[in-house]
Amino acid sequence: MVRCAPITNFAQKGSRAAAGPLYKWRSMKKVVLLGCTGSIGTSTIKVAEDLPDHIRLVGLAAGNNAGLLLTQTLKHRPEAVSLSDPAKARELEKTLGTAARVFSGADGLVKLATLPSADIVLIAIVGTAGLRPALAAIRAGKDIAIASKEILVMAGEIVMREARKNGVRVLAVDSEHSAIFQCLDGKPAESVRALWLTASGGPFRETPKEEFPSLTMERALRHPSWVMGRKITIDSATLFNKGLEMIEARWLFDIEMGRVRVVVHPQSIVHSMVEFVDGSMLAQMSTPDMCLPIQYALTYPERVGSNRVQTNVTKLGPLTFQEPDRDRFPALDLAQKAGEIGGTLPAVLNAANEVAVSDFINGRCNFPQISQTVARVMERHTVTAHPRLEQILEADAWARQEAALPESR
Ligand code: NDP
Repeated sequence: MVRCAPITNFAQKGSRAAAGPLYKWRSMKKVVLLGCTGSIGTSTIKVAEDLPDHIRLVGLAAGNNAGLLLTQTLKHRPEAVSLSDPAKARELEKTLGTAARVFSGADGLVKLATLPSADIVLIAIVGTAGLRPALAAIRAGKDIAIASKEILVMAGEIVMREARKNGVRVLAVDSEHSAIFQCLDGKPAESVRALWLTASGGPFRETPKEEFPSLTMERALRHPSWVMGRKITIDSATLFNKGLEMIEARWLFDIEMGRVRVVVHPQSIVHSMVEFVDGSMLAQMSTPDMCLPIQYALTYPERVGSNRVQTNVTKLGPLTFQEPDRDRFPALDLAQKAGEIGGTLPAVLNAANEVAVSDFINGRCNFPQISQTVARVMERHTVTAHPRLEQILEADAWARQEAALPESR
């Protein structure tokens, strides 16, 4: 199999080597999709259906939605599929017969991520379950496309080091990181003054702080620009989503936290920007549709034609940019701190936030208590610098226990 030379995410893009002989080899990508039944997963399926000459789905993994996985399997005929629950997986195996191999549980995700025929593994699972398959895919020489923020937030140092060692690409699926990736176009970190992540500001952008304790989950789930899974929608309302993205950007683009900035852009047309050292700013724009960054990650380094996303600039209206309110949305400062201190602290922030979001969804805490819980658990944590994977997972488990304690709120 032809592989690219080891790359960093800054250096890999747009090189003549990538656009040369590899171009033909890469024009059909064999893709494993982890999290195929979710919001990103179903958008990825649409992209694959748009581009049958460029994308073939060879592996599909879901959590519990066996019905949708079956429908997708019958339509796309992957070689192998996986479900979280072994009993449901056995049922599916009976139904599918020899049509596809069926795996289950955490091992099933690793089996899919290392499928010999796969070129690239797209990881779109909520939570930490994507971390081990991501590392397994990298070690098996597969490129990875990351939607699951937890992977780089928890273990960015390890993941990027392993990717360099194995000469594979780590491609961004998040619209903000895809935008930065496109704007950087291979320029090194030294040419960058700042990376500007845009944030819609979420449903509570204009809501006074006094109303925060009475905000309901239903209101938090009404995102102004994007339709996404529940967890990320709540994270968009607290701005923890943007905080996690800051840490993700720090690792993806090998840049210190101080040069990762956030700007509120309610129209969600500019997906992010790069400010270069000469003062020039490049932005990537389009009407919001996750199919675009997904397609870019899966077809990279090609740009493949698709009519799905259309942007009429004359109809966009004014595009505005403003400072985020760090007092109403403490998530940004918490994430900044976690990213700057590093070690196990980002994993602790991520885990405490997951528990607090789940408590908010289940009515066990109010909206401001999400960031209060995260702050309290971070304060109690003794950071391990340059942690190994086991130490990260220990910190994750510790933070979940701490966040679940009533005094965390
Ligand atoms: P959803 O909740 O919509 O989907 C989650 C997917 O993960 C489902 O397919 C679910 O399966 C599957 N899943 C959950 N646990 C497991 C497991 N243990 N093993 C296998 N599959 C599992 O989430 P989103 O698609 O919104 O988000 C996915 C990730 O992408 C998140 O990390 C999010 O932050 C990130 N992201 C999402 C964006 C978006 O626009 N939605 C944008 C950028 C990033 P099932 O439904 O069958 O249980």
